[in-house]
Amino acid sequence: MPEKNILIAGLGLIGGSLARTIKSGHPDYHVAAYNRSQAPRYFAIQERIVDEVSDDFDALAVKADVIILNFPVQLSIQFLKTLATLPLKDNVLISDSGSTKLEIVTAAEEIFKGKAIRFIGGHPMAGSHKSGVIASDELLFENAYYILTTSALSQPADFEELKGVLVNTRAKFIELTAKEHDAMTAVTSHFPHVVAASLVDNAHDFAAIMPFTENLAAGGFRDMTRIAESSPDMWTEILMSNPDNIVYQIDQFSQKLADVKQLMLQRQSAEIWDFFDNARKLRAQMP
Ligand code: NAD
Repeated sequence: MPEKNILIAGLGLIGGSLARTIKSGHPDYHVAAYNRSQAPRYFAIQERIVDEVSDDFDALAVKADVIILNFPVQLSIQFLKTLATLPLKDNVLISDSGSTKLEIVTAAEEIFKGKAIRFIGGHPMAGSHKSGVIASDELLFENAYYILTTSALSQPADFEELKGVLVNTRAKFIELTAKEHDAMTAVTSHFPHVVAASLVDNAHDFAAIMPFTENLAAGGFRDMTRIAESSPDMWTEILMSNPDNIVYQIDQFSQKLADVKQLMLQRQSAEIWDFFDNARKLRAQMP
């Protein structure tokens, strides 16, 4: 009898990578995976990433001790609603891996109110512009921050239990409120994706005037825009899910650009030097 039954729901990049780390960290666990389409299920069984696959979510969910949802956030909320209607094991522990947290944590608190269900929102802050189980990687989360969100649906012991399941991610776990999570990731992840996509769009627009422009996109431009190759589905979802924080960052940043523009128009070279020197020092000190 395996020590725990784990359900990985959604066998994409993140679900597949989590399944790999859980299975390798706990060979005695039974790791099952739900995926709607067949090819990832077949791949996961062939590669021995999981022990069992199915397109019957409900059948796997009722057997599980721990369920981790790895879908776009709105879809994960739909699955939480389904879970609330199922005869789940007592004290089942549910988590997710979505890139925004306030929406899903708020929904979970509402959906599971008064039920013997524990929920901890999760966000492993590692990824790739690739998607799908084929790109999954056991080392994806190594040394990355893995945020777990505090809420009315979990106690400190629940965090220890989930961290135990996820121990082989070798991630650095931290606990935040969903609000803190969404505010900080807007700065370091969500807004930079908007900037990267805008830089690419801007270069493309300018290439209509000077067609050779894009050929000159060298190291700096490529470094700054690599993430523009990310999934449009995922990033549309994230912008829709965390609009206030991202709009706030856009406003802040617009002001910074306006300030630099003024310095240039006024030919204030000493202030411009300070601007770059300050950024260089701050970048060097970043943890
Ligand atoms: P992915 O595209 O690789 O996988 C998405 C999964 O959702 C697949 O299993 C797909 O079958 C399933 N899915 C999508 N629509 C569905 C539907 N209508 N019905 C049933 N299943 C459906 O995406 P991913 O990168 O693994 O992202 C999963 C979650 O992890 C997202 O919430 C994302 O925000 C989050 N996340 C992504 C990254 C990253 O860099 N890719 C990093 C951290 C967190």
